[in-house]
Amino acid sequence: MIIQESMTLKRKLEILSDAAKYDVACTSSGVDRKGDGSGMGNSIAAGICHSFAQDGRCISLLKILYTNECVFDCKYCVNRASNDVVRTSFTPEEVCHLTMEFYRRNYIEGLFLSSGVKGSPDRTMEELLGTVRLLRHKYHFQGYIHLKAIPGASPELIAQAGYLADRMSVNLELPTAEGLKKLAPHKSRKTILGPMKQIQQQRDQNKEELVLYRHAPRFVPAGQSTQMIIGALGESDYQIVSVAESLYKKFSLKRVFYSAFVAVNEDKDLPMPLSGPPLLREHRLYQADWLMRFYGFRASELLSEKHPDFNLLLDPKADWAVSHLEFFPVEINRADYYELLRVPGIGYTSARRIVGARRTHSLDFQDLKRMGVVLKRALYFITCNGKMMYNTRLEENYIVRNLLDEEKLRGDKTAFRQLSLFGEEMGAKRVYQVNPAADFTGKELII
Ligand code: SF4
Repeated sequence: MIIQESMTLKRKLEILSDAAKYDVACTSSGVDRKGDGSGMGNSIAAGICHSFAQDGRCISLLKILYTNECVFDCKYCVNRASNDVVRTSFTPEEVCHLTMEFYRRNYIEGLFLSSGVKGSPDRTMEELLGTVRLLRHKYHFQGYIHLKAIPGASPELIAQAGYLADRMSVNLELPTAEGLKKLAPHKSRKTILGPMKQIQQQRDQNKEELVLYRHAPRFVPAGQSTQMIIGALGESDYQIVSVAESLYKKFSLKRVFYSAFVAVNEDKDLPMPLSGPPLLREHRLYQADWLMRFYGFRASELLSEKHPDFNLLLDPKADWAVSHLEFFPVEINRADYYELLRVPGIGYTSARRIVGARRTHSLDFQDLKRMGVVLKRALYFITCNGKMMYNTRLEENYIVRNLLDEEKLRGDKTAFRQLSLFGEEMGAKRVYQVNPAADFTGKELII
């Protein structure tokens, strides 16, 4: 392992922000523009990425590894011990200096700090803890901090870190225990799920303390998240969404992030995808995740052992609808909120509007358009006062063909919208881009 002790801070930042880019809890801004000297600042590749707050606000984070030294040898990782790459580490003071300077210049609103395993999980966690402690107590930094919990670190260290960070995450890495054993032999389900459970239990306990003492310190107030790599092994989409569902239930996770496998190492146990990372698959998983979190779908409704993978041509909600035609047509003036949510083209905002508006008058298709229903998708599945919008047939092949044609008309041949989710609202052709890997709940994705 080549460890460079003397290196400029800028060079360290280049290496350690680049090494952090495979963690998808945030996505890189991707801008690399040098200042020309006539103004202030530049946007060199300095690890600034964007995330989203609960209210939909976009926030910029400094996303770095504390160190890319690592004694673990996860086969899929560029920083694995057996790779011959230049290694370096920040000092706690350097991380604080960068965070404060970037914050003062208004480049960032927070810090996303992850790390390779330097020496041992405890030693690494101690250094991370020391860094955020310094940042909070010496530099009085009150911005957002997302801190990775190192698998295998002792519960005492995680407990202390949770009172300093806003969000913590432990990456599940692979959906199955066998997969973990094969590709990340130094990690185990126990060392990953242990801290996850501890964070969840301490958060629950903290909520009770806060009821009694309003000013009690808050433990991981922005909740915890995790990440799974998609496509590194032969796991099915059904396995992945079932694991995600169980994580949401058992550990009250705020988000599960899905990261399409990127082949950065050659290894006999790794696939070498000819067509690049499985981004469309990742996109379908984010759509399904959205359906489970906001639309009341269960994993077992979306997929099954017999039908284990998502249809790459149709989004999961449309795919569910065309395979459950017995549920349709849904009568807009009578269906309950949850039935409305099952209709492709009706999102939770428009479902709420429908339920509210029909208290005073019965609704027609023009009303639905005004309420933000995407009629091009919904028209096959709904009636207003017993009538379909056009003379369409409730027949699987016919609907699938028309939905696919509609995708083509949108200039999007296979619904292949890599890493972006789009929604149209209010029929006003307002298209907004959603970062699927973000903590985004402020705007609605209509699928
Ligand atoms: S623990 Fe594994 S995934 Fe994390 S930096 Fe080390 S080799 Fe990479």
